Amino acid sequence: MTIMFNKNPLSPPDGAARNERVQFRELNAGYPGRPVLQQLSAQITAFTMTALVGPNGSGKSTLLGVLAGVITATSGQLRYAEGSPPAFVPQRGAVGDTLPLTARQTVEMGRWGERGLWRRPTRQDRAVVDSAMERLGVADLGTRQLGELSGGQRQRVLIAQGLAQQSDLLLLDEPTTGLDPEARERITALLIDLVADGTTVVQATHDLEAARSADACLLLSNGRLVGQGSPEQVLTPQALTRIWQPA
Ligand code: ADP
Repeated sequence: MTIMFNKNPLSPPDGAARNERVQFRELNAGYPGRPVLQQLSAQITAFTMTALVGPNGSGKSTLLGVLAGVITATSGQLRYAEGSPPAFVPQRGAVGDTLPLTARQTVEMGRWGERGLWRRPTRQDRAVVDSAMERLGVADLGTRQLGELSGGQRQRVLIAQGLAQQSDLLLLDEPTTGLDPEARERITALLIDLVADGTTVVQATHDLEAARSADACLLLSNGRLVGQGSPEQVLTPQALTRIWQPA
């Protein structure tokens, strides 16, 4: 498996000017004894929102983990254009309800990569954390325990942790799943704003409304890429029925 970090945005073979933030070719990945992703080739365009769409178990989280560098692909190529390391916002359910952490401490963890685990936060760290919490509307929840918050509040705290990493590439795993419609819309609107401000956003989702608000969709089924393009091109009734129909 080859991972490359390019100084310049990648050029597609036809030489047309395109601004790819991440590109992967013939990517295979999975878990010990459990191959999941098979021969995936696609690109993530800079300053857009890409939705990884597909039913449960189709490989969305695995692909996100590979893009985040948490899962190593078994073969294929993965190329990043110049930029900061990605910030990864894990699934809300993967963050224990019982962790004795306040909302602010959770957001502060986003600074660990920058300053190391045990160093005291600097003034700049505090300013970055303040600004991420304000942006997500969670500044007044700072002293509350993570486990006490509503699903939507907790999701916003986790996104604030991602923002505190100050990356131009934000990867989110099911950020709107399981939330009420108002919380879902709020998060989708926020992600759209982040893109407008120059962030490249990739979200794994089986929330079709969220996927329809993306600029591009990668449709996964059984670890294979079965569609890519705009939501209108990819999320057709035919494709959705084919993929979501019960086995
Ligand atoms: P999705 O995010 O689309 O629901 P995942 O990427 O989580 O899909 O899972 C794809 C497949 O990989 C599923 O069959 C799942 O059971 C399997 N899988 C996920 N995580 C692990 C793991 N840690 N070990 C073994 N298999 C896993």
